[in-house]
This record gives sequence, C-alpha cells and structure tokens, in this order.
Amino acid sequence: MSDARAVAVPVLTYHAMNVNGRAYADNDHVALARDLDWLHAHDWRIVPLRTAVSALFDGGSPLPPRSCAITFDDGSWFDWYDLDHPSHGRQRGMAGILRDFRDRHGADVHATSFVIASPEARAELDRSCMLGTGWWGHEWWAAAEAEGLVAIESHSFDHNHHTLAATAVRDGPKGRFDTIVDEAAAEAEIVAASRWLDDLLPMRRTRLFAYPYGQSSRFLREDFLPRRAADHGLVAAFGTEPRAMRGTDARWNLPRFVCGADWRSVDELSRLLASA
Ligand SMILES: [Zn+2]
Repeated sequence: MSDARAVAVPVLTYHAMNVNGRAYADNDHVALARDLDWLHAHDWRIVPLRTAVSALFDGGSPLPPRSCAITFDDGSWFDWYDLDHPSHGRQRGMAGILRDFRDRHGADVHATSFVIASPEARAELDRSCMLGTGWWGHEWWAAAEAEGLVAIESHSFDHNHHTLAATAVRDGPKGRFDTIVDEAAAEAEIVAASRWLDDLLPMRRTRLFAYPYGQSSRFLREDFLPRRAADHGLVAAFGTEPRAMRGTDARWNLPRFVCGADWRSVDELSRLLASA
C-alpha cells in the first residue's frame, strides 16, 4: 500500500484547439503523435486517468511501473474529428491520433477529455475565441464514451471564461477560477456541470474535474469539494502544478504537465519525465 502511494504518475495535458502551425511547438496534434511514439519507445504505459486515480487514492489495482495518463482540455471537435483548419490544413483529430498509435504499435492507449458542459457557453466561445465554425458541439461525447478510447469528464459549466457576456458565477470576476470562494458560484460551475454531463451521458458518472486555467481556491480544495462530494460526484480535481501525481498528494489539487507550457519538444518531454 505504501509503495502504491509513492508511485509517480505523470499526467500529460494537450489542447487540441492549439493549431497555430504545422510544427510540434505550435500544434498539439503534431506534439501528441510524436510524444506517443516516444513514450512507447521508452516503455511508458498509457493508462486511463480514472484508473490511475483509483490506484493511487482509492485502493484500485496497482499500476505497472512507468505509467502515465493523457488528458485534453475544453472538449471541442478537434479532440474527436479530423478537420480542415482554415489556415493550417487537414488536422487529424486527437482520437484518430490515439487510434493510429494503437494500430501501429498494438499498445493500449486512452485519454480523458475535460469538457466545458454548457452548450450555450461553448457556442459563444466558438464565436469569441475559436474559429466560429460550430466545431464545439457535444455530438461526439456519447460515441467517445461508447468506444472507450476517450473518457468525458468535467472542466466546469462555462469555464467562467472572460469572453462570455455572462457566466454562471454572476457577480464575481470572470477569467479566473481561484476567485470562486462561495457556495452559489461553486454550485453553478461544478455541481451543475456534473449534473448536466450525467444527464447527457447516463452510461457513466462524472468523477474527475480539471480547474479552468488550472486555478483553484482554498474554499474549493479544502471545503466545497470534500464537503459536497455527494452532490458533485467527483473523486479528484486537477490543477496545473507541473509535476507527477503521487498517492501522497491532496486529491482536490492534483498536478498535471501542460504541452506548450511545460514542454515544447520530445527532448523536453524526455527531460521532464526523467525528473518527474
Ligand atoms: Zn480550459
């Protein structure tokens, strides 16, 4: 048991909407495909994030050595479909990159997509800070759960995003998540997201949360999330502190590495994992 808790599990995060060119450093699709091959060549195993959380915190089966998990943020079509980007050409969807990898190597692969629940917020965000092409719908989420390759989990109701005219937080400041320090705002962003996702995807329950902007408040970490577990159904929440996850961590503020911020090449990823 003490051994299982000391195991270090890096969680690698990609943003599929990060398509600003066709090179590793400016395209998370290119980065994911290269990283998967590197991970496989260096004996890393990719496990579902929920399996890793269960192993480290809830007495689940121990993980094999050199286990890591992959996550995506925000839940757009770029996680799932191949799309013709207006400036940068055909992009293989992240799910297609996972399937290509699985077919090439015969190795298990899995990712967890942390999605913004509110369809109205996604439609508005699509117009204000994506391409305005309607590529942020949730049409693919049930198919993803049915296939078992990409799990759908919560990235809040509307990200309390600064470009939305109004967010569920109402009176508080937008564009941050560490400003959420009261019951009503936390209910609107976290409990409502779990309920919405559980209604849409009744074949599974929402169990994991990724804080928008990687930010959390002490109220969320130490009071709201542990106290209201029966209402939000979550078992763990992730920020973006750049280190590997261990069973000794606090489950309401788990670390993740972010592609583009914490590593920008396969060499940087290899150094990151060597020190993780
Ligand atoms: Zn986000």
